[in-house]
Amino acid sequence: MRRYIIPLLLCLCLLAGCDTARAPNEENDQSDTVELMAMDTFMRVTAYGEHREAAELAKDEITALEALLSVTDEGSEIYAANHAGGKSVALSDDTAALLERALALCESTGGALDVTIYPVVRAWGFTTDKFRVPEADELAELLERVDYTRVSLEGNTLTLPAGVELDLGAVAKGYAGDRVAALLREQGVENALLELGGNIHTVGSKPDGSLWRVAVTDPAGDGYAGVVEVADKAVVTSGGYERYFEQHGETYWHIIDPATGYPARTGLQSVTIVAEEGVKCDALSTALFVMGPEKAEKFWRETGGFDFILLTGGGEIVITEGIEDSFSPYGAWIDQSPTVLRR
Ligand code: FAD
Ligand code: MG
Repeated sequence: MRRYIIPLLLCLCLLAGCDTARAPNEENDQSDTVELMAMDTFMRVTAYGEHREAAELAKDEITALEALLSVTDEGSEIYAANHAGGKSVALSDDTAALLERALALCESTGGALDVTIYPVVRAWGFTTDKFRVPEADELAELLERVDYTRVSLEGNTLTLPAGVELDLGAVAKGYAGDRVAALLREQGVENALLELGGNIHTVGSKPDGSLWRVAVTDPAGDGYAGVVEVADKAVVTSGGYERYFEQHGETYWHIIDPATGYPARTGLQSVTIVAEEGVKCDALSTALFVMGPEKAEKFWRETGGFDFILLTGGGEIVITEGIEDSFSPYGAWIDQSPTVLRR
């Protein structure tokens, strides 16, 4: 069973400014939008002003990144690396840059993010939709092949020991957001909204100078749990409610704890990360979901440089002080007063 996230995107879009950007300024009312299905999700890039060419370039960039990074596409660099049988492969600059950044984030999160999780993800059927609950013995065996420290990346040369396989699904959309935002800025775009699956990336403010209002999905309902106002930031959410299946009354989702091989059950419904760098937001939303609330708080205190919104299993909202004034609960969560973590 899988819920597609297009309805979510449409409501994100509404709050993120597609409605309100229209009214205030005739001159800036003009926008160019491209839409595509990529990385198994719906994507939309809206560049405000007259920027048709930039919007088309953004689309080309996403398509090119997907062709490099897909774990299932036989023509991709990741597929080639995963099937190289221990031999070295040469990577493009994009794949090498993303992998280098991802490996650093695997290390800083103590392996809560592990880009070599693919054999386990595949065993659960999450990349093929052929869902199953693997036996404990099978998972134990597959976990022997999960260890990001065994990935060797020297410049653009990647060597994976036989049996080790990469999955950049937890970070690729964030990287795509960074690349597309940089490309749009190079093209002179000052205001843009990137909706890449559940990842939102903003360039500048809304055309009228106000902040983008980005919705955080309500994991248990059809609406949203909160709204955060941002400019020049990425807002990325990971949760157990988007890709999952049910068996014998138990729900299994796609975020796996690399320590156990099972879906991470740490008392969180979702984790939203707010920061400038999309790939960092993407990596940390996945990693902090794996860590759970206490370790996530500790990690934030030790590293900083980002804000988060945790929606706990008990229905509480925990946020960090940097977004205290820009986050508001919404919908069924409106009466919650968030716990604000301060340094
Ligand atoms: P995130 O929380 O950002 O990431 C979760 C995903 O990361 C999981 O699906 C798994 O792949 C991986 N993961 C799980 N646990 C960990 C962990 N602890 N550390 C590191 N990684 C982990 N899906 C399809 O079904 N079919 C496709 O053809 C397909 N093509 C894709 C092509 C590209 C280029 C990309 C980037 C993704 C593609 N996907 C495809 C989707 C992909 O498999 C993931 O499901 C998706 O990226 C999850 O994103 P998310 O934002 O929901 O969750
Ligand atoms: Mg992620």
